[in-house]
Amino acid sequence: LCAVFPGIAGVRERTLIAVKPDGVQRRLVGQIMQRFEQRGFKLVGLKMLKASDDLLSQHYRDLQKKPFYPNLLRYMTSGPLVVMVWEGHNVVRTSRLMVGDTNPAEAHPGTVRGDFSIHISRNVVHASDSVEGAQREIQLWFSRKDLMDWDSCDHSSTYQ
Ligand code: UDP
Ligand code: MG
Repeated sequence: LCAVFPGIAGVRERTLIAVKPDGVQRRLVGQIMQRFEQRGFKLVGLKMLKASDDLLSQHYRDLQKKPFYPNLLRYMTSGPLVVMVWEGHNVVRTSRLMVGDTNPAEAHPGTVRGDFSIHISRNVVHASDSVEGAQREIQLWFSRKDLMDWDSCDHSSTYQ
């Protein structure tokens, strides 16, 4: 009954999603994960940790010079994160749509940020913004052995 077609092109795309410290504090982890599960994406990595300044400076390497960077670093190290890797067709782009605009004031209702946040400095969640960026971030946050290759038995109901 568990038909699996691992060779289908594009289905193996992966992205990094993180529930930021405000999201963890506000008990939003379950609701956020549920959205990715119910959309049809597959969880292949999951961990909770307090990120170091060093890890975050690599993660946000393109933002080092921005005026908000010191605040961003303080925010992201203020408590534990829940970091995840989700897999599926077009997952990078689709998850950006699910997460919504960086500024919650612009994020549409129905998106994570549009439903759970108000201000850009506390926008609940991170999502990789490109396939290349996702690969870089996944390597930064996860070792290979902590990423699960597994076949979901609803695969043929989710994909042609
Ligand atoms: N950020 C902020 N002020 C800004 C822009 C960004 O505090 O004016 C924070 C916010 O938490 C955002 C993160 O920096 O999510 C990374 O910025 P980026 O532009 O990469 O947005 P994202 O990819 O998270 O939507
Ligand atoms: Mg970004």
